[in-house]
Amino acid sequence: MNAIITIDPATGEELGRYPGLDAPALDASLQRAADAQRTWREVPVEQRVEPLRRLATLLRDEAQTHAELISREMGKPVTEALAEVRKCAVTCDYYADRAAEFLAQQPVETEASASFVAYEPLGVVLAVMPWNFPYWQVIRFAAPTLAAGNGGLLKHASNVTGSAIALESLFQRAGFPEGLFQTLVLTDHGMVDEIIADPRVAAVTLTGSEAAGASVATAAGRALKKTVLELGGSDPFVVLADADVEKVAPLAVRARFVNTGQSCLCAKRFPVEAGVIEDFERRVGDLVEALRIGDPLDPATQIGPLAKPSFVDDIDRQVRESVALGARVVTGGHRLDGPGNYYAPTVLADVTPDMPVFREETFGPVMAIVRAESADEAIELADDTRYGLAASVWTADMERGLRLGRGIRSGALFVNSVVVSDPRLPFGGVKLSGYGRELSREGMLEFTNIRAVWAMESVA
Ligand code: NAP
Repeated sequence: MNAIITIDPATGEELGRYPGLDAPALDASLQRAADAQRTWREVPVEQRVEPLRRLATLLRDEAQTHAELISREMGKPVTEALAEVRKCAVTCDYYADRAAEFLAQQPVETEASASFVAYEPLGVVLAVMPWNFPYWQVIRFAAPTLAAGNGGLLKHASNVTGSAIALESLFQRAGFPEGLFQTLVLTDHGMVDEIIADPRVAAVTLTGSEAAGASVATAAGRALKKTVLELGGSDPFVVLADADVEKVAPLAVRARFVNTGQSCLCAKRFPVEAGVIEDFERRVGDLVEALRIGDPLDPATQIGPLAKPSFVDDIDRQVRESVALGARVVTGGHRLDGPGNYYAPTVLADVTPDMPVFREETFGPVMAIVRAESADEAIELADDTRYGLAASVWTADMERGLRLGRGIRSGALFVNSVVVSDPRLPFGGVKLSGYGRELSREGMLEFTNIRAVWAMESVA
């Protein structure tokens, strides 16, 4: 059947049914996007940001409704969903305030009468997005990209199709021109390749798994189109022996268990120096046992269901195989009975680099604690991964944290703070975490034509 069915991860019940686009409808969508962008690119940036400001207001005014939709579709605790929607509003305001400055021509001294760098739109950009932050992933792409004069086409994760349609409506109501931002309901990944090949599409950005990233980058490579890829992560949270473990432990729990562990930026591996490891294990074990598991729509819930049943199978396999290799269960380590995709929040100790919870990305509520005999060994363990999204180092000595942290190859380094994405700072990875940047000025310029202009008053 050519339709997407969405399922409530807390109950297993059907939520919605959405007919997929057929080939003629897709062609019409691409044409509308191309036509809208041709006009939009001529609108001065000061006017292009006006709908962004209205979008921010709509997101704030309707935050509760959108948060509940997010929670129902992918299981995020509703308090976290509310925070997600509000962060979207902040980011729209941020680009509304800064777009003109970021896109301003940069004069360059040469022998020309006038020479400068101009930042012009690329065209229509396709965004393939994941379900884990259904609004945030889209807004962090769309706010800078549309403000830069581009159009946006969203192929969202199938399980959050209701959110994708609500987002399209938000952009329309905010006053963006008809067709400039569209949600495409696609029932077949092959259609993504066709869209990338279409001359009306200029570039593509994907946030998701390595497999999806490789597939989209292959299609874009064939068509020689620009890509930005935000892929997986296995971020280290390094606790040095001089850290204040009493203060660090609750932050470690937050860093790992936010969004029920389903964030690319979640800390996933915890190298801890031997001197403080027992204290750390005991404290995080107690805190994790106290986490409230339940209905994502209940504001008291801290741990909801995983977004899809297969994710419970994946995390359960990673835990069982790691335990078979010698990991010790401090707490959790099993599925939870009853309806919904629930997995017990888990802490594993005695983790070693040969185990799946160390080698693979764990996209669920499982903390892997690794013993390090020294600070240098902790950094080596932290860097022993195919991924390179972000890293945090926890120590009483910030300068030492910064110095040691440089030994971990990652797109972001935080010392004594939980890693977060912030519109003011570039976001993205190295190694298999992807390439290109989102957010800040760097993110906005990814989808611009950075154009060199050289002009003489007269022919010499
Ligand atoms: P996924 O399967 O790769 O899905 C992400 C998106 O890609 C969805 O829209 C999906 O559509 C689409 N997709 C999948 N295979 C495709 C293909 N062959 N061609 C075209 N589109 C394809 O990702 P996931 O497993 O659901 O999400 C979790 C992953 O995303 C994790 O690895 C996580 O670390 C990563 N992530 C990274 C960031 C970051 O910023 N670095 C942020 C969040 C998540 P369907 O839903 O229709 O399959």
